[in-house]
Amino acid sequence: MTSLYLHIPFCKTKCCYCDFNSSAAKEALYEPYLAALEREIAGMAMGRNRDALATLFIGGGTPTVLTPTQLVHLIKQVEGLFGFTGDIEISLEANPGTVSEGDLIALREGGVNRLSFGVQSFNDCELRTLGRCHTRREAEQAVRAAHRAGFKNINLDLMYGLPGQDCDSWQQSLDTAISLTPKHLSLYQLTVEPATPLEDYIDTGKLSLPDEDGILQMDTVTKQFCQEAGMRRYEISNYAEEGFECLHNVNYWRNEEYLAAGAGSVSYLKGLRAKRVADSAQYIDLVGKGGSVIAESEELSREAAFRETVVMGLRMTQGVSLRELYDRYAIDLKEHYGDTLSRLIGLFLLRLKGDRLHITEKGFPLANRIMAELV
Ligand code: SF4
Repeated sequence: MTSLYLHIPFCKTKCCYCDFNSSAAKEALYEPYLAALEREIAGMAMGRNRDALATLFIGGGTPTVLTPTQLVHLIKQVEGLFGFTGDIEISLEANPGTVSEGDLIALREGGVNRLSFGVQSFNDCELRTLGRCHTRREAEQAVRAAHRAGFKNINLDLMYGLPGQDCDSWQQSLDTAISLTPKHLSLYQLTVEPATPLEDYIDTGKLSLPDEDGILQMDTVTKQFCQEAGMRRYEISNYAEEGFECLHNVNYWRNEEYLAAGAGSVSYLKGLRAKRVADSAQYIDLVGKGGSVIAESEELSREAAFRETVVMGLRMTQGVSLRELYDRYAIDLKEHYGDTLSRLIGLFLLRLKGDRLHITEKGFPLANRIMAELV
């Protein structure tokens, strides 16, 4: 399967918790950036086996700060260079407050068939605390407009563990989300990233986060809600109706190859992970001069790739297949992890069932610690 990620590093405003490669107030760069992006993609397509793309993911940042015309033009360029499989998944990240119903219709007609809304919360107070550029009402309106525009595959991103949030408020956000009938939910616990304004607010006591018990309650509520709504958990933070799992992200979690273009984006091809320069102005400049945009690259050894594939694969509820791992890397998982594996299985954090190893319900809340032992 061939997958391509395109990064749009622009946002309307900068949220206080965000450490993604994105910045606000860069409108003057939109056109030159798109021109550079298209040039990088064209260079990438040259000399490749022209495998048609099975997934295209346009993420950010907030891609919908660009106009539908710009985005659809980009998609058509990619299609002309790579070709699309008949059932390609074309995902676009969108923020409520940056799209009108007319925009959504144009994007749908232009080929986007999966829309991922960064909602984060349906509570206005929480949205203000996070510095989001939209209200609860705008988020609801945007999702309804997406349904009317003909989108069948809608994801909503929500976060829990927010400053001032309690279990009731999280439950209300989930309730509202489910009432909007998305096919997919990405539900992340907020992490306080270094050097963000949020870190400062927490350190200086201006804001405080829910305690561990509060988070555990929210985890429990999440599981119940999604189960009752017919959303199956298929990855640590992702839930979907059967058949609506995000194929692009599943490809990442399987640690398969993927192409990427745009400032700060990372590709993984033939065991080589390559990261592009993050600064959008520098990116534009380098592409313009015909120089390389790769800022760092790392060649993974067979063993390192094996371990990564195990750790990434365990993020999914279906876990990893020992046979597939052996076929891919000629490494026996049981032999490789030995006592560590036995201990984690003995603690009921991992389970080996037939050919598959997966994290247990008990293990999911401790996933990061389990991964740290296996990476
Ligand atoms: S919209 Fe998303 S990418 Fe942009 S600043 Fe907020 S969290 Fe970051």
